[in-house]
Amino acid sequence: MDIELTQRHRQIIAIVRDRGPITGEKIAEELSLTRATLRPDLTVLTMAGYLDARPRVGYFYAGNPSADLLSRLLRGHLVRDYKSVPVVVQGDATAYDAVVAMFLEDVGTLFVVRESGILTGVLSRKDLLKVAMGQPNLREVPVSIAMTRMPNIVTVEMSDTMYDAAKKLVDMQVDSLPVVRPAAGDRGLEVVGRVTKTTVTRLFVELGSHWSV
Ligand code: ADP
Repeated sequence: MDIELTQRHRQIIAIVRDRGPITGEKIAEELSLTRATLRPDLTVLTMAGYLDARPRVGYFYAGNPSADLLSRLLRGHLVRDYKSVPVVVQGDATAYDAVVAMFLEDVGTLFVVRESGILTGVLSRKDLLKVAMGQPNLREVPVSIAMTRMPNIVTVEMSDTMYDAAKKLVDMQVDSLPVVRPAAGDRGLEVVGRVTKTTVTRLFVELGSHWSV
């Protein structure tokens, strides 16, 4: 239950937080109100999750339910459950191959890998535009020339929260993050997924649809 706190609600919460467990009579006394006047407020605050009532003991402060809810909304979603399939090219692919892959796979960023999916680089649309300005024949340019390379790549892991991923996208001003895990035998990081601004936007809309009135 989501409620708009009144001035009196805030006073009650402050008293219970500082002095709880405290009886209803004591709270009423403190506010110079009758127990009967106070009763509906205590009921509302208990139902809304701010207070806990124990028979014969009194009221306890139970926390701020909207802060808990917000924190659960933000931290309760893992990369593992929202990541999409990564689109990868090998390091010896040409810039032309990369343009075709971006177009056919409908992505704005490619991950460049070696062997069985070990991350070596990230190639964005603008990386390709930049190389195209200097060398019009994209069939002669390997992607490795145009990409941002390890260890300068910002990544996330399966167990990271979507909030961590969104924060990295915003802080680092990139569109896409490879989801990685350590490859066996210390060979580097294996690409197992991708989180993009679209992934975060989709989660945002999904959350909104659960909460619409
Ligand atoms: P665009 O360049 O198309 O605007 P981005 O903003 O994602 O796309 O990329 C900006 C630059 O950052 C590019 O040079 C790209 O190679 C690099 N880049 C993209 N994603 C990452 C990442 N996860 N980690 C490090 N660098 C990245």
